[in-house]
Amino acid sequence: AFKNIKTLPPMGVSHLTNLFQEDKNDNKVNLGVGVYRTEENQPYMLPVVKKCALELVENPDLNFEYLPVLGNPEFTKAATELILGKDCKAIKEKRIVGVQTISGSGALRIAVEFISQHLKKRTCYMSNPTWKNHSLILKQAGFKTLKGYPYWNASKRNIDIPKLLAALNEAKQGDVILLQPSAHNPTGMDPTKRQWKQIAQVIKERNLFPFFDVAYQGFATGDPDRDTWAVRYFVKEGIETLIAQSFSKNMGLYNERVGNLIVVLKDAKHFEAVASQFTIIIRTNYSNPPAFCSRVVAKLLTDEHNKKEWLKTIGEMVDRIKKMRKTLTKKLKELETPGTWDHIEKQRGMFSFLGLPPNQCDKLLKEKHIYLLNSGRINVCGLNLNNIDYVAKSIDEVVRQ
Ligand code: PLP
Repeated sequence: AFKNIKTLPPMGVSHLTNLFQEDKNDNKVNLGVGVYRTEENQPYMLPVVKKCALELVENPDLNFEYLPVLGNPEFTKAATELILGKDCKAIKEKRIVGVQTISGSGALRIAVEFISQHLKKRTCYMSNPTWKNHSLILKQAGFKTLKGYPYWNASKRNIDIPKLLAALNEAKQGDVILLQPSAHNPTGMDPTKRQWKQIAQVIKERNLFPFFDVAYQGFATGDPDRDTWAVRYFVKEGIETLIAQSFSKNMGLYNERVGNLIVVLKDAKHFEAVASQFTIIIRTNYSNPPAFCSRVVAKLLTDEHNKKEWLKTIGEMVDRIKKMRKTLTKKLKELETPGTWDHIEKQRGMFSFLGLPPNQCDKLLKEKHIYLLNSGRINVCGLNLNNIDYVAKSIDEVVRQ
């Protein structure tokens, strides 16, 4: 039965992680996988997340009964408010469907299934470049045509807004436009408010369908409210949209798979129909989501004291990332490495797009044991004061070769 099954090549970042683990070199540095690391290069459990989890475990009323198919309502409400803001008119008018998902990837997957099956859409535009899994999920869930809209301008090392807008102006009515509102993966470059307004205007005029992927809320500016400004603006403008939300990064809940999908409707009367279709999609995929960490997130977000502590921790994580950006930029300048490096400091979020060509990235990996994507994306969190000199010197050497 299995003789005609083809073996696919190893998958991107997880393959890189395997190579890193097998590497015996003492200088090796992992700048591949997108996870936060402390200054000591360790995984980070946010103290307030741990505190909420422990309190839940110790609660004598805790049980592991099934959740409803659409998830823990307390969680979806709190998560939705985190993105849209408590005062959001669409929430007050009950024009929102919130669905608990298997993290951000699960939210993207069920959203794309819904968009494909029920909104009958077949064409999606994604930023060029974008997170590799976007195209894989879209294809797997039935999208026939995937297009890129220009985003990264390699020579200027910023976002090519005129070309981006021109591409959207050529999209056909109803086409899906996948957008990352902040801390863009992989470039670390986000449009300004003015540019978001321009993007929203084209989307509105041409009747396109925006679909937001919010995987790094808090990581761009340190303030989760500011990081979803673009989403809030679109919703205020009365634009219908879907929003995929992840708590992997901003709560360090990577393997707990906690996410939320938000559907913003124009009219509350469509709520029941939309919710019922998500019920069948989820029922036939995994029946209902896991409960425990949805309770952790709800406990954290609905308690003022817990939330304050979380915001403080996010601020500290973002400060560490900024410090690493600044230090790497400074060191490359001190080494007089050919090229311009200010973009590393200007970029935001976990990632930096260095602007190195694939052959130099390959050399960093094979000769210097520095693991990064061959698009030139590094995870800035993988840098610390122990390895940053080595990384800067290695970049300098491969650029000069
Ligand atoms: N979207 C983007 C842009 C990402 O970078 C990621 C994770 O790396 C995700 C979504 C989904 O992550 P998760 O499924 O862990 O929530």
